[in-house]
Amino acid sequence: MSCVVNSVCKLCRRENLKLYLKGSRCLTDKCAFERRPYPPGQHGQSRLKFSEFALQLREKQKAKRWYGITEKQFSLTFEKASRATGTTGTELLKRLEMRLDNVIFNMGLASSRRQARQLILHKHFTLNGSVVNIPSLILKKDDIVKISDSSANLEFFKTMAASSRTVPGWLEVSIEKLTGKIKDTPVREDISLPVEENMIVEYYSR
Ligand code: SF4
Repeated sequence: MSCVVNSVCKLCRRENLKLYLKGSRCLTDKCAFERRPYPPGQHGQSRLKFSEFALQLREKQKAKRWYGITEKQFSLTFEKASRATGTTGTELLKRLEMRLDNVIFNMGLASSRRQARQLILHKHFTLNGSVVNIPSLILKKDDIVKISDSSANLEFFKTMAASSRTVPGWLEVSIEKLTGKIKDTPVREDISLPVEENMIVEYYSR
C-alpha cells in the first residue's frame, strides 16, 4: 500500500504542485509533498536547466495529472478546444474544468477526482434528472447534478456533504438538496490550476 501511496505522491513532487490525488490524506501532515517538496530521484534537489520542450511538456503533464485523465483523453480534449472559438489554452482548461468528475469533486461529494470517477461509474448521480455514468461528460450552463435518490441516504454522502469545501464561483451547491448547478461557464480566473496553458498549446503545435 505504501508503495501505491508513494508512486501517486511522486506525481505531485514531480510537478512541484499538490495534485490532491489521495483524498483526505492530502490535507494531513502525511502529505509527501509537504514533507519533501522537491522532485523525486537522485537529482531531485539539484538546480537543473530545462529546455523549452521540457518546460512545455511539464505544463502539459501538470494539467493532465491535475484532472487525472489519460494522455488520449487529454489530447482529444485539446483537439476539440483547438476547434472552438476563443483562445485554445483557455478553452482547454474550461473543458477540463467542466468535466462531470471535476464538478462532483468541486461539489465536495468526492475526496479526489479519481474517487468522483468511481462514484459516477457506479451510477450514484443524475444529470438533469437522468442517471449518468460517464465521468468525461462536459457540462454546460444550467446543468444540474444530483445524488440519485437511491444513494442519497448512504452514509458516505452524508459525511462528504457535512465536510466543508470551497466551491468555485461558477458552481452553486445546495447541501440540503445534494445538488450542484452550473451557474456559468468558468473564466480563466475561476480555475485554480496554476499552469501556463499557452505552453501546452505550444507543446501540441510542435
Ligand atoms: Fe500525496 Fe500530498 Fe499529492 Fe496528496 S497532495 S497525492 S498526499 S503528495
